[in-house]
Amino acid sequence: MSVPCARCGRPVRRTPAPEGAEPNAPPQLRCPRCRYLIYDYPRLAAGVLVVRRGTVLLLRRASEPRRGCLDIPGGFLDAGESIEGCARRELREETGLAVGALRAIGHFWDRYYLRGFGFFPTMNFYYLARWRSGVPVAADDAASAEWVPIARAGRTGVRLAWAHMPAVFRALRGAVAR
Ligand SMILES: [Zn+2]
Repeated sequence: MSVPCARCGRPVRRTPAPEGAEPNAPPQLRCPRCRYLIYDYPRLAAGVLVVRRGTVLLLRRASEPRRGCLDIPGGFLDAGESIEGCARRELREETGLAVGALRAIGHFWDRYYLRGFGFFPTMNFYYLARWRSGVPVAADDAASAEWVPIARAGRTGVRLAWAHMPAVFRALRGAVAR
């Protein structure tokens, strides 16, 4: 698989990041003819951990990638959107819920794999919010929504959608304990 060089049009393939690059650096896209480097910045994503009486709202993914895996309501930032606005929009689209104040609990690197492309790096921001009202109704990318005990989140042997989720749940447990 290759993409055309943005400068000269020659097909460019990914090659391993050079020695000394960041641990999360993806393979590079550098044109072998004109040496132009196609920048491969991380995509930003944001999500909300909605907490209610010792449980957190998780979703079962309805579509690829990672169909059937547990996920946190969230998704990719649209151009021009705030990170918090993205988190609220994704929560609304996937569960129908609106929440009050958001409290940032951290940001987490990951990789998003696409068939025929390889992967791009992602930077995932999460917020904590208290449930206020409403029954979550799974929609969009979500097949179902469930309240999972925070103490058990990510520890029950279920398949999680993304590698960074155990770290998110650890941060959540720390945040609710404070
Ligand atoms: Zn080129």
